[in-house]
Parts: sequence; C-alpha cells; structure tokens
Amino acid sequence: MRNGVCYVGGSKKKKKMRRKTDYLKPIVESMRNPKILNTDFHIHTDVSADSNLNLAEAIDMVFLSGTPNVVGFANHETLSWITTNYIDGVSITPSVEITVSYMLENDYNEHWAHVLAVGFEPSDEGVIRGLIKLANARKDIVDALRYELRKYGVNIGKIDVAGKTSNMLIGDIARHIARTQAHKVLRMIKHIPYTFNRSGKRTLDIEGVASELFYVLRRKVNHVVGMARWPLEDLIQKVHNAGGKIIIAHPVLSHIKLEYEIFAQFSEMGVDAIEVLHPSMLGRPWDVKFMDELAQENSIGVTMGSDFHGNYDNNKNEYVNIIRSLKDLRAEAIG
Ligand SMILES: [Zn+2]
Ligand SMILES: [Zn+2]
Repeated sequence: MRNGVCYVGGSKKKKKMRRKTDYLKPIVESMRNPKILNTDFHIHTDVSADSNLNLAEAIDMVFLSGTPNVVGFANHETLSWITTNYIDGVSITPSVEITVSYMLENDYNEHWAHVLAVGFEPSDEGVIRGLIKLANARKDIVDALRYELRKYGVNIGKIDVAGKTSNMLIGDIARHIARTQAHKVLRMIKHIPYTFNRSGKRTLDIEGVASELFYVLRRKVNHVVGMARWPLEDLIQKVHNAGGKIIIAHPVLSHIKLEYEIFAQFSEMGVDAIEVLHPSMLGRPWDVKFMDELAQENSIGVTMGSDFHGNYDNNKNEYVNIIRSLKDLRAEAIG
C-alpha cells in the first residue's frame, strides 16, 4: 500500500478537521455544475466481494485516466473506507455504498435503492454505529439461510459463510449461498419435499437445484433482508451530521422512476445529488438530459460514477474507456 493511505480510526482528529473543507469543495462544485466532470465517487476495490481491484491498481488507473481528480472508493456497507488523502494529485474522500429503504407519499410499498455516502467525517459515531447495525443484520441473513439449509440436511459453518458475504451486496447473499451449497443439496435430494420444485418436478442438475434453492431461500429470508437496509431519511440525517453528502446511485438500476414528484420527495428528504452519469445510462442521453432537468428543478446536484468493479485484465484501459464514455454521454446530453 502506498504512503499516506490510512483507514478509519487511524488518524488524529485535528488533521481530519483541516482536511474536511479541502475535499468537500470540489464535491459540492461538481454537484452544482453538470459540466464539471472531475469526480468519481463510485469505484469498488477488492474490499467489495464483487471486485478484484486492489487499491494501488485503482489509484494507478484513476491517475492514467487524467481525470477525475476527486475519487471515492465506495465499497458495499463497509467500515474499511479510506480517509481523505491526496495521492498523485488525486484526492480521495471517504465513501461507502449503502442499500437503503424508503417510502413515497401516496404509496404504501417499501422501496429500496443504492446510495453513496461521501465526504463524511470518518470517525463519526452515528455513521459507524449505523454500519455496524447493518453488518449485524447481514449476519442475521446468513443465520436465517443456514437455518433454512438445515431443513435440507445441509449444515454450513457460520464463519465459512460470514467472512465471504461480509462485503457482498445484500441482495447477492442468498444467491451466493444457493450456488455454493447446491451440490450438497443435490446429494441430499431425497430429503427435499416434493413441493421444492415450482414446476412440480424434481430438479436433478446442479444449476437447476441452485436456481430453485435461491428461489426458496430468497423468499424465506426476505423479512431479514429488510433489516439490512438503512432507512434513507435516517441515513441522510446521520451523514449530514457527519458533514457528508448523500448521492442516489444509478437511479435506473434502483428502479427509480424519472418523475418530478419523486425527485421532489428526494429533495425534501435531503438527498444532495443523483448519479446521473453511470454506465447504466450509456446510450440514453435523453434520459440523462431529463434527469439533469429534474435534479435542477428540485435543487439536487448531479454526479458521475463509474461503478467500476475491476477485472483481472486491462483494468486501467477499461476504466479510462468508461470515463471517456461517460464524458461523451455528458456532452451528448448537454447537446
Ligand atoms: Zn449499486
Ligand atoms: Zn456500486
């Protein structure tokens, strides 16, 4: 690891207070002006279970892209974020990607979304306590899954699973366990009740068992998954208290409708920005333009996020290409 990178709890209070104003300024500037494309708060490193990019590689690739010059390594619900620092002229801000729940007016469904918390004071108690609570809820999901699997005669070790799923997207935990345990379930197939298969037939191939198992497990642990989502309004309050900002990540992937009323409600809740430029929006300049307008009308900022997850081959070029495509998308949308 390079010099100057420190994890939460590692640095002195005085130092942090001085830094905060340094990194919030470009964040706020870029949120206010859609033409400023010098930030990427959404890069996953190998702290996330779904990325294999190490920190040194990540910094090299950001440097190679020439821009952005403010980045956040936003891994899933982790406490291993990196406190703000400068490396090779790139400013790094504390960031984390969190699954939230929220309700809308005149609508009784509970919705979920991914949000990015950025620029907060890394040692803030409210943020840390909230993340610890989510980590515990994640363990409850694993416990509930282990309990369900026991019904099929499959015992899995707590530690085995907990470690591997600790920084996985919560929605992926049941899928991961179904995939890795399907062979054991297949061995115990005689214990599986007839109703196990939705189509009324027993599935005997490994892929079929894995997908049926996922279907059953997901349904059984749905109530616990809800506990692993941070209520959005509470998260906003905690992150604002810690001096940070809240960005709604990839709105379309979180099934957020591009409607004025919905953006107005986010604005009322205190959302600071929307990740308008994201790989999921490539080829959709009109939707980007529309989101820009909705954000502006509701005093919400806009941001760019690569949501880069890394790859063994050609990491650097892949990242450079994503940033280039997002900038082209920006230019197309502005027209
Ligand atoms: Zn996400
Ligand atoms: Zn992400």
